[in-house]
Amino acid sequence: YNSLDKTAANHSALTPLNLLRRSALVFPDKPAVIDDDRTLSYRQLYQRCCQMGDALRRRGINSGDTVAILCPNSHEMLESHYSAPMSGAVLNSINIRLDAATLTFILSHGEARVLFYDTQWENQVRAAIAELEAPPLLVSIERKAGASEGLADLDYESLLAEGDPEADWQAPSDEWTAISLNYTSGTTGNPKGVVYHHRGAYLAAMTNAMVFNMTAETVYLWTLPMFHCNGWAYTWAITAVGGTHVCLREVDAMEIYRRIEDYGVTHMCGAPVVVNMLLQELGRKGLKLSRPAHFALGGAAPPSSVIRKAEEIGFRITHLYGLTETFGPSTLCVPQPEWQQLSLEERAVKMSRQGVPTHGLDEVAVMDTVSGKMVPADGKTMGEICIRGNTVMKGYLKNAEATQKAFSDGWFHTGDLAVMHPDHYVEIRDRAKDVIISGGENISSLEVEEVLYRHPKVSEAAVVAMADEVWGEVPCAFVNPVDDGEELSAEEIITFCRDHMAHFKAPRKVVLGELPKTATGKIRKNILRDSLF
Ligand code: ADP
Repeated sequence: YNSLDKTAANHSALTPLNLLRRSALVFPDKPAVIDDDRTLSYRQLYQRCCQMGDALRRRGINSGDTVAILCPNSHEMLESHYSAPMSGAVLNSINIRLDAATLTFILSHGEARVLFYDTQWENQVRAAIAELEAPPLLVSIERKAGASEGLADLDYESLLAEGDPEADWQAPSDEWTAISLNYTSGTTGNPKGVVYHHRGAYLAAMTNAMVFNMTAETVYLWTLPMFHCNGWAYTWAITAVGGTHVCLREVDAMEIYRRIEDYGVTHMCGAPVVVNMLLQELGRKGLKLSRPAHFALGGAAPPSSVIRKAEEIGFRITHLYGLTETFGPSTLCVPQPEWQQLSLEERAVKMSRQGVPTHGLDEVAVMDTVSGKMVPADGKTMGEICIRGNTVMKGYLKNAEATQKAFSDGWFHTGDLAVMHPDHYVEIRDRAKDVIISGGENISSLEVEEVLYRHPKVSEAAVVAMADEVWGEVPCAFVNPVDDGEELSAEEIITFCRDHMAHFKAPRKVVLGELPKTATGKIRKNILRDSLF
């Protein structure tokens, strides 16, 4: 068997770029992307991407160069996921909520040669590039007339026009070639540049389409920013199935509801806080979805109460867990047929577990952090989630030390603490640094949050460790109350927690108010922790 060789006829580098070429062939006239001001068919999308890829090459962009983009969800943002790698470059999509200093760090560390930016962010770009020795070519994307004071070297459409509309592109000869660079969202300190490969991006696109039951009928609403892990690889996955991308620039509950109804949206993704916000607004207005829509929930642990309420309003929830380092989703909570017999409440508890590996991975294990051995599948013994497989990053850009640390012993170490259940579903108990150690006992911040979310007047909650002279650390809860005009006191919350959990786990202090979040809607526990000092 083994004397039969690989040839160009039966072996090529896996790349998600081919998925767009295929959809342009199969669905030339179908809407590929619907944006505020224009709709592009698959033929048009493909042609624009090829043309921009050519324009970038003509501007001297070569294999391995970085093309950065600072832009909310839009057709230009989607196009750049294809055009930049078609030119041979690596796409660095940058979080739009970052401050100018971090932007400077990213542009300089990633050595961006081109920056596409939405003119709404022109001030940040001006401040960021002022500190750079070699500023990138600045290409503006103007949505709001008058938002620009002319900082850019040229605008997006003018650069596009420099390319040949008939231009072709070269797939990488090696699937290990870098395709994108994503800086970690920074809930854990300095951003690190996570590098993705074409092979992983292709496999992540295929598996993510599969885990979310996507087909050519899929109408996907971009409630998740495309700059977060390339939209958990859905920038490539929707295209793979020939579905329609519906852009959304800002997360606004009524706008999301309107688009779901108007465009017949079938799928969307986001962090639990996004769903929570949506549920509250729809609940207040007494609205339900006219047909069920699938929502993939991930990025933070979803309280079971959120899953239950979402299902009641018409969402079909898929629970995903992953990290920037794993192209987004690495596990999903696959619903078992017998769960249908359970009450919604019981099912929601099962579904709040992080689940089993996606198809792109070989293994997701829970390891004892000291012995390095797998913990027993008893649903009790805690260990670190470790991952290996084909949808794991190449490593961190220019950071050999962090790369080596993350990949020690042939596994990718996530820093998330979990148990393995007897049915081989993983359940996260906490992030290693979020665990509260009180008098030698570990308190899972997620467990306390789960109770807080059961309180009817709690809209959002986060629990962090607070220094304590006697216990070392004690839980402190930050709570954003439901906006219904009724008072909620710290005492009421503490009493509620003490009634529903072991007393030592109940928060000692409760701070009421809005919670700081990252661009993907994750609560920034580091800021909450720092606020206690
Ligand atoms: P950052 O580490 O900067 O927050 P990421 O977006 O890569 O950046 O976050 C990954 C982390 O988010 C995981 O390590 C985990 O702690 C958390 N996370 C993601 N999905 C889930 C989930 N479904 N349940 C619990 N935690 C999650």
